[in-house]
Amino acid sequence: MAEFDVDLFVIGGGSGGVRAARIAAGYGARVMIAEEYRMGGTCVIRGCVPKKLFVIGSHFRHEIEDAAGFGWTVPPATFDWPTLIANKDKEIARLEAAYTANVEKSGAQIVKSRAVIEDKHTVRLLENDKKITAKYILIATGGAPNHGAPIPGIEHVISSNEAFHLTRLPKRIVIQGGGYIALEFAGIFAGFGSDVTVIYRGDNILRGFDEDVRAHVRAEMEKQGITILTGCTVAKVDRHREEFTTHLSNGSSLASDQVMFAIGRHPAVANLGLEKAGVAINPRNGGIAVDHFSKSSVDSIYAIGDVTHRFNLTPVAIREGHAFADTVFGKREVQVDHANIPTAVFSQPEVGTVGLTETEARAQFSHVDIYKTTFRPIKATMSGRDTRVLMKLVVDGSTDRVLGCHIVGDAAAEITQAVAIAVKMKATKADFDATIALHPTASEELVTMRTPTARHVRQAAE
Ligand code: NDP
Repeated sequence: MAEFDVDLFVIGGGSGGVRAARIAAGYGARVMIAEEYRMGGTCVIRGCVPKKLFVIGSHFRHEIEDAAGFGWTVPPATFDWPTLIANKDKEIARLEAAYTANVEKSGAQIVKSRAVIEDKHTVRLLENDKKITAKYILIATGGAPNHGAPIPGIEHVISSNEAFHLTRLPKRIVIQGGGYIALEFAGIFAGFGSDVTVIYRGDNILRGFDEDVRAHVRAEMEKQGITILTGCTVAKVDRHREEFTTHLSNGSSLASDQVMFAIGRHPAVANLGLEKAGVAINPRNGGIAVDHFSKSSVDSIYAIGDVTHRFNLTPVAIREGHAFADTVFGKREVQVDHANIPTAVFSQPEVGTVGLTETEARAQFSHVDIYKTTFRPIKATMSGRDTRVLMKLVVDGSTDRVLGCHIVGDAAAEITQAVAIAVKMKATKADFDATIALHPTASEELVTMRTPTARHVRQAAE
């Protein structure tokens, strides 16, 4: 008789957990995967995928407006929020079913239950109180939205989880946060016609991104009528029937029909039995502490994705899940290389970025060249839209290597995915220059910027 009920027990049926379960099962492991909510996890059910559908849907406003300059007469367009929600729900249900089918096809068994760890080789299913022993346990429980300090009226505030299921489109919405989710939903709601106010505590949105990107995105969002209030926070929210009053730390207040916070996400480590099993938490970020192979402080327990709070991005969780399965069940040790991960903020306009920002490069390299351009995209010349694209390359002036690429504008994410290959391959600026432009595109600018717009040389004595 086998020593354990299964070889691998995965807690969490999101992108990372599912990938690990499928690959491990493919290597012949007996795998069980528990999910307490819906298969697919945050990305599929209430994250990247429905968000992108909302972004696409809301962007039609710009398309309709821009069409006039090209000779189209479009009758006044109307938008129906319930249709959007119903069609989105249908697509998410289809994807959830596909996730389930793919896991089952791989031979892994799905259990619809919350699972908690009893000891280093045992999990308990809360649904039926059954205990399952496993040679290895993989924690892939992801994360959940933060709500910050318990300010008065916090119970009136929604997170992105609820934003996907609102029964009607708010005419006015206040969104606190200056990161990915706040800006993506600001663009979504504004596109669908809401009056949007973003409240951000610092000087400018998108802290950690390249300074030019931050300034450019803010200016472009403001041009579209989104109000961005910086240097303040939400202190209190009052509700009067269907209307909310948001009181800010600077003494002012705003009326709206919805208040949303998007102020970060925390790793879902609570009530999992981690202490019982001796799984250590990383004191720096509150996630499960893991080594380069995603192994926790307990030899038989691994953790991947957002629950480790390393790089909270779906493709990273997938890569980590795959590497875990290769290492533990595939007889080949694989470490995930977390350098040069491309990322996009699907704000409107969107941001695509890979590699170092100018500030980061200047801190690490003694000679940094910057190639930067802003220009009016060809579509805007006829649509009349007041918008500009930003493209920026950060180059190591000593080796000519391209250290970073930052784009704000239509298709920034799509362009960045391709440029990320070159950056990962350590392409030089000369390689970019040697590439013939593809005309007429926006991204041809990336291979036609000849002269540095700034050159930072650190003197030896500095
Ligand atoms: P982010 O970390 O991107 O942004 C959080 C924002 O909230 C920051 O502007 C932060 O300010 C602010 N903030 C944090 N705490 C407080 C507080 N107590 N009071 C007021 N403001 C506060 O988190 P998100 O919630 O937007 O997204 C979570 C993560 O999910 C992202 O970091 C990303 O990893 C992932 N994600 C990725 C997406 C993508 O790839 N397109 C899309 C959505 C999410 P400050 O900068 O000053 O700290």
